[in-house]
Amino acid sequence: MQYDLAVVGAGIVGLAHALAAAERGLSVVVIDRDAQANGASIRNFGLVVVTGQEPGPSLRRAKRSREVWLKVAPAAGINILHRGKLVAAQRPEALALLEAFKAGPDGQDCRLLSRAETVAEQPGIDGAKIVGGLFSPHELRVESREALPKLAAFLADRHGVAFMRGAAVSSIAPPMVETSHGPVRAAKIVVCPGDDLATLYPDRIARYGVRRCKLQMMRLADPGFRFRSALVSDLSLLRYGGYSALPEAAFLRHRLTEDCPLALDNGVHLIVVQSADGSLVVGDSHHYGQTPDPFASDEVDGLILNEFAALFSRIPDVLARWTGTYASAPEAGFCDVPHEDVRLVMVTSGTGASTGFAIGEETIDDLFR
Ligand SMILES: Cc1cc2nc3c(=O)[nH]c(=O)nc-3n(C[C@H](O)[C@H](O)[C@H](O)COP(=O)(O)OP(=O)(O)OC[C@H]3O[C@@H](n4cnc5c(N)ncnc54)[C@H](O)[C@@H]3O)c2cc1C
Repeated sequence: MQYDLAVVGAGIVGLAHALAAAERGLSVVVIDRDAQANGASIRNFGLVVVTGQEPGPSLRRAKRSREVWLKVAPAAGINILHRGKLVAAQRPEALALLEAFKAGPDGQDCRLLSRAETVAEQPGIDGAKIVGGLFSPHELRVESREALPKLAAFLADRHGVAFMRGAAVSSIAPPMVETSHGPVRAAKIVVCPGDDLATLYPDRIARYGVRRCKLQMMRLADPGFRFRSALVSDLSLLRYGGYSALPEAAFLRHRLTEDCPLALDNGVHLIVVQSADGSLVVGDSHHYGQTPDPFASDEVDGLILNEFAALFSRIPDVLARWTGTYASAPEAGFCDVPHEDVRLVMVTSGTGASTGFAIGEETIDDLFR
């Protein structure tokens, strides 16, 4: 059998390419070495972040990907658990940054909140620990560990996409893809290897300065109240280009360097989202290396929980801990062309759930125009 397209990698980026191609009526096979989704795409928050993405391609792609999530989620039976994101400002410097963001072109749809409005928006938050907030209506949140299998099932059932699971791809010589289950023939090939920097096209990947980033994550017990939206706090404002590039960010950076240097050193910031059963997914941290160690440090988890305690009066029990890794590079991502019929696509900014669908459409437009 010859396919129009073979996609290597069944993470969100690979599935996004499969969706874009299948919607054009192309025949698609997705090949992954794992038996089921196991990479960054199911270890993440499942947060589709729009507000705060760096202006330019990242923001544009996040807006488009949000539209695709809204279209595909109901069709695939994927629940959207949150709509919107609340930034709870703990320091005057953070509030000043949010005010500057709101005054700019990308803050128009957001609402600046007083302390009382922030408390009203976020049950459980300790009003004494915040100075105000910003509500963005754009974010979506899905439970990735459920969403990815549902998206794959939707692609197979609705669009006839073939899946080869447990098949490692060792080499590509168009139109042939060599897998551990035998060769596959496809007119075009897209490689979406996540953070595998060593198997396919390692020399080309190296040119983009890619390394890996390890994140620590936790699931906390149901706190007894419902989150209306995703929640982030001051430290997060330094991690998203849409905020951190504003001049006001320098004052916040200075203040955070004084207040919580260890958190900054460990790349800790706070994102909290709530699952359907009431439990919370809380993270995260950032440690970089070619092969970061796989161990979750208790000290780093403690720094993340400190940030949680800086907003809430009680820390619920920790139910689970895990680490995840993603490819990281100075640029947000790239689409490399190792051969006219092959594309190598990597999201290198930890935003694949937020931008992947748009990237998939762009690559497929380019390959099949
Ligand atoms: C803890 C954590 C939290 C995050 N939170 C968010 C968030 O809330 N929002 C957001 O937008 N982004 C978030 N990210 C980033 C996002 O998860 C990633 O950008 C995205 O999942 C990358 O998708 P991917 O498909 O490229 O990689 P992956 O999900 O890693 O998938 C790559 C797949 O390729 C397969 N593969 C690789 N090489 C081969 C080969 N040679 N043969 C066969 N198969 C191969 C692997 O088995 C794997 O299944 C987070 C990441 C982490 C780790």
